Amino acid sequence: METLEFQAEARQLLQLMVHSIYSNKDIFLRELISNASDALDKVRLAAFQDKDLNAETSDLHIELEADKQQRTLTVRDNGIGMSRDEVVDLIGTIAKSGTAELLRKLKESKDSSADLIGQFGVGFYSSFMVADKVTLVTRKAGQSQGTRWESEGEGTYTIDSVDDAPQGTSVTLHLKPEDAEDHLFDYTAEYKIREIVRRYSDFITWPVRLKVEKTENDETKTEFETINSMKALWARSKDEVAEDEYKEFYRHISHDWTDPLEIIQMQAEGTFEYQALLFIPSRAPLDLFMRESKRGPQLYVKRVFIMDECEALMPEYLRFVKGVVDAQDLSLNVSREILQQDRQIQLMRRRLVKKILSTIKSMDAEKYQTFWKEFGAAVKEGLVNDFDNRESILEIASFASTHDPEKPTTLKGYVERMKDGQEHIYYLTGASRSIIENSPHMEAFKAKGYEVLILTDAIDEMWVGSVPEFDGRQFQSVAKGQVDLDTGSDTEEKSKDFAGLLSWMTETLKDNIKEVRLSSRLTTSPACIVGDSNDVTPTLEKMYRAMGQ
Ligand code: ADP
Ligand code: MG
Repeated sequence: METLEFQAEARQLLQLMVHSIYSNKDIFLRELISNASDALDKVRLAAFQDKDLNAETSDLHIELEADKQQRTLTVRDNGIGMSRDEVVDLIGTIAKSGTAELLRKLKESKDSSADLIGQFGVGFYSSFMVADKVTLVTRKAGQSQGTRWESEGEGTYTIDSVDDAPQGTSVTLHLKPEDAEDHLFDYTAEYKIREIVRRYSDFITWPVRLKVEKTENDETKTEFETINSMKALWARSKDEVAEDEYKEFYRHISHDWTDPLEIIQMQAEGTFEYQALLFIPSRAPLDLFMRESKRGPQLYVKRVFIMDECEALMPEYLRFVKGVVDAQDLSLNVSREILQQDRQIQLMRRRLVKKILSTIKSMDAEKYQTFWKEFGAAVKEGLVNDFDNRESILEIASFASTHDPEKPTTLKGYVERMKDGQEHIYYLTGASRSIIENSPHMEAFKAKGYEVLILTDAIDEMWVGSVPEFDGRQFQSVAKGQVDLDTGSDTEEKSKDFAGLLSWMTETLKDNIKEVRLSSRLTTSPACIVGDSNDVTPTLEKMYRAMGQ
């Protein structure tokens, strides 16, 4: 037997669990059942893909067994299991992206920690909210040697080999003695377990069987009773499913504990049949702008789980959308590479995208504001990448503007407010609102009463260069080229008067600039530097340099 230490981050998360930061401890069971369900999905798929894998798949299920005397609760599955190395990697460390970031934030804000960690999902470690010792025994499908892992949730765990472990994983919780007298936390009680499973795990597509005692003709015997309905939510019609069931399902697949902002259900019939159940979260994940962030719904084929994060089904700019797509006519053997090429997949993806965009468009004002605040910067990437839907994206986009410092505007709103004689949609990109507002480039526009869009996201630099127009109006930077605003002064006359000064300045500064000209764009500043119409902006130049180009 070996004693090993938890990785530092794992230890910190465990501390939070041991000292139970959640008011709702019941969810530990949901997490364990969720893991068991994933393990069953995986073994079915593995056995299908590898006929030589010596895996038992005839009766895949989850078992729950409580022992009132010992005060233990065991969650058992006959799924894929874990090798010894996997136990160390998966249970002893946290590999999820964003962990360090999360822990830093948790330290900063003590009070909202439950809220923050909810974004993350705590999984297996939530066992330590209710148990002071956890024993896990597992054997990977196709292997002969099993592994036993045990920990009290402090700094270390032990790991050992076992010879007679069945395929799959069993997790035994030694329940905390301090909860023994509190019926709220009586996790050995049949009614309590039934209640939790019905509330949180009813939709799990595998049977969850509870060991119960039955008395018949004075004879008491134990048997396993299935206590979930196993109905795939996405295959049921919307009015058959309670809002709460959708929310629980969302939690199961997203590991986000806040309710989704929007639930989208699609059921396509005909030659290419599929069902989709998609969710728009109500807040952005920590890793939304990290390079390695994953995307795409889970893919099922005829109720059989095929893969997580099917990126072929979702463009990058909608990477925050979660959900499930179940296709009827795909082979169970599809690989990610095949999917990228598959015409039906591409067709499906197009429909999902259209549906998501139209759902956003029809959100009420409050929802939309939340949505745009959280995900707007990601969605705008679509203006650069998704040519087909550019119009729709422009329609749902909103931008900060000089019109109202509190409220962003849609382009439609901007166009409606355009002044007589104003031809273009004006914008200025920059690092922050105050830098932009105080830029000398803005002066003439302020004087004229022209509204200017204030673009401060990195992606703004990219799309303004590639999107030609909205509603027949071109986008025009106030910092570029010759902006001719009729401010009443006669520039041409004055140019003659100042010809000497202008040519002297041009000559003197010729190593740094192209020309010096008189401008009507300034009202209080004496001079400003402008780019040529087709120059890259300073911010973009910085970005390119940062990328080594
Ligand atoms: P998550 O489920 O979000 O990945 P968890 O903490 O719940 O995080 O689990 C960590 C990992 O441990 C899982 O991703 C899985 O690889 C492994 N694991 C946990 N429980 C089981 C189980 N019952 N069977 C097989 N693997 C499991
Ligand atoms: Mg989990």
